[in-house]
Amino acid sequence: MTPMIVALDVSKHFGPLKALDGVSLEVARGEVVCIIGPSGSGKSTFLRCLNQLERIDGGAIWVNGELIGYRREGDRLHPLSDREIARQRLASGMVFQRFNLFGHMTVLQNIIEGPVTVLRRPRAEAIADAMALLEQVGLSDKRDSYPAELSGGQQQRIAIARALAMKPELLLFDEPTSALDPELVGDVLAVMRDLAKGGMTMIVVTHELGFAREVANRVVFMDNGRVVEQGPPGTLLSTPTHARTREFIAAVL
Ligand code: ADP
Ligand code: MG
Repeated sequence: MTPMIVALDVSKHFGPLKALDGVSLEVARGEVVCIIGPSGSGKSTFLRCLNQLERIDGGAIWVNGELIGYRREGDRLHPLSDREIARQRLASGMVFQRFNLFGHMTVLQNIIEGPVTVLRRPRAEAIADAMALLEQVGLSDKRDSYPAELSGGQQQRIAIARALAMKPELLLFDEPTSALDPELVGDVLAVMRDLAKGGMTMIVVTHELGFAREVANRVVFMDNGRVVEQGPPGTLLSTPTHARTREFIAAVL
């Protein structure tokens, strides 16, 4: 079966800085991959490249078999138009550390905005879907609340529902619980655990090693813009091969 993600030798510079230095990674459909690593190691940049919030400057990425960002003509590659990139970006939903909900819209409006304006779905259908998603994240009673009236954990669960409303093929999470008070982390992780059980393909950048151990099929350790090592969580988190991985895990635990 075609992998959901194939990243091949991806590099990304910011001026002289090499944020990604030859990252290769495959993610199968339905797989949950956690990416761990120190601050500045390129984790966010990698997710942003997968979602085309950044353009890569070396290597290639395929999402569900489709080369992203470029169109091949003979042996030449041509950059895609903004419109084509916008279409490709719909394949992946992204959940950020800061929830980025629209503050002037209710919870329900936040969730149906994309489906109605981007996907042109009939409003009644979008609302019915949104209510099912609110049920799924345990916040049916908050449909008419504004983001400022919700806790950080509730806002993040709404952000997840909003991403799911676009029916993405995979979800990318960038430290989704890092901005939350500790007592609010569990509810967000529970929603993510349910999504994983439901077969959603997920790449999760996180420092929650307990979550990685329990939910991930694979854990990837990044440092200095590279994948240093990867493996099943039991192996990578308990008996890492590289000294850098050992140091990092010891520091996070
Ligand atoms: P992580 O998410 O692992 O903490 P990032 O991907 O955010 O790491 O950053 C990797 C490196 O790229 C860091 O050195 C960071 O400062 C740099 N970087 C990230 N985004 C930008 C940007 N837009 N402009 C310049 N440098 C950036
Ligand atoms: Mg980051």
